[in-house]
Amino acid sequence: MDRTILHCDLNNFFASVAVLDNPTLKNCPLAVTGSVEERHGIVLAKNELAKSYGVATAEAIWQAKRKCPELVCVPPNYHRYNEVSMAVRDIYLRFSDAVEPFGIDECWLDVTGSRLLFGNGMEIAEQIRAAVKREIGVTVSIGVSFNKVFAKLGSDLKKPDGITEISRENFKEKVWPLPANALLGVGRSTKNQLDSLGIFTIGDIAAAGCDVLKNRFGKMGEQLYLSACGEDSSPVATEESAPKSVGRTTTLSSDLHSAEEAWPVVLSLSENISETLRRHGLYCGAVQAHIRTFDLNVKEFQAALPAPTQSSMVMAEKCMELIENNFGFSVPLRSIGFRAINLKDAAAPYQTDIFTDFHEAESREEVEDKIFEIRQKYGKDSIVRGTTVNTHIHDRDE
Ligand SMILES: [Mg+2]
Repeated sequence: MDRTILHCDLNNFFASVAVLDNPTLKNCPLAVTGSVEERHGIVLAKNELAKSYGVATAEAIWQAKRKCPELVCVPPNYHRYNEVSMAVRDIYLRFSDAVEPFGIDECWLDVTGSRLLFGNGMEIAEQIRAAVKREIGVTVSIGVSFNKVFAKLGSDLKKPDGITEISRENFKEKVWPLPANALLGVGRSTKNQLDSLGIFTIGDIAAAGCDVLKNRFGKMGEQLYLSACGEDSSPVATEESAPKSVGRTTTLSSDLHSAEEAWPVVLSLSENISETLRRHGLYCGAVQAHIRTFDLNVKEFQAALPAPTQSSMVMAEKCMELIENNFGFSVPLRSIGFRAINLKDAAAPYQTDIFTDFHEAESREEVEDKIFEIRQKYGKDSIVRGTTVNTHIHDRDE
């Protein structure tokens, strides 16, 4: 029997909360900006009206104001985002216990077991859409499907305040003509590689076949193929299945003697951990670094982060700081382990990494800036592709 999965995505979440708290802003073009000072502030989020002027996420306020002089800029209010997010989640929980957050404004629900009580997927989605609007005052777009990947894709198709069903009967017609990067897991770099293979749509991914994609992208290629064919079987993670901590460790083929040598290793571990955190909608509150020296001495250090994060850069930098400050490469290292602890729910208040959480695409520019910064600090070759080191990484999920 097919599952019934919903993906609920709150529309223009930051801007909607701003209007909720100040209804006079309702008909204004609105942007939530990192700093209201025009020279440094950038647009973190915007409402539909601002969007219609061409205001884009991640651009500078002065650029946005050139397109839309009457743009109203408000600062973010993380505390309120958290409150509203939790209130909406309480509504979801009326319809299913299996609610998996994905960032602060998105959740998957497995409502397979709720159909007898509340009706089919479309009927449940309609009840949720109406309740969120009536009780909270914000709108939500919902995708209804038989797997998580298509449910997420469906929630992108009618914005704001819309419901889209992607069924076994209609997915070839609705999903396959869409560009490849509409599929969960296809970021900019994967998209570029797919382009070079002549694979432009989700249908092209399905038509390419499993072997071609597996040869090019490894395990991820297989997952892409399965996703495109509607064969994604990943479960909606409930609270109980969420890990308490996420750790990765690696044994090195040669000893490490310096921060410059250690950095790419720490960064790949961190990227790996970040991916797992995102999958579970968890944020890392503290970092634990674990090192083994060439003479097999084991040392462990830990420190809290200023704010919970999923950012691989923030976690990796903290891990490096721990190793450098407490150990300083006085003797060569044989292995490095790295664990994200004090994990927090996605909706916990946080301040950093706003882009990676809310606008995956835009975030990559930010990450690239960060990479540039790191290269300045640790040298040109300090960042290598994560995959070159990942092969030796051992999973230490708990
Ligand atoms: Mg959203």
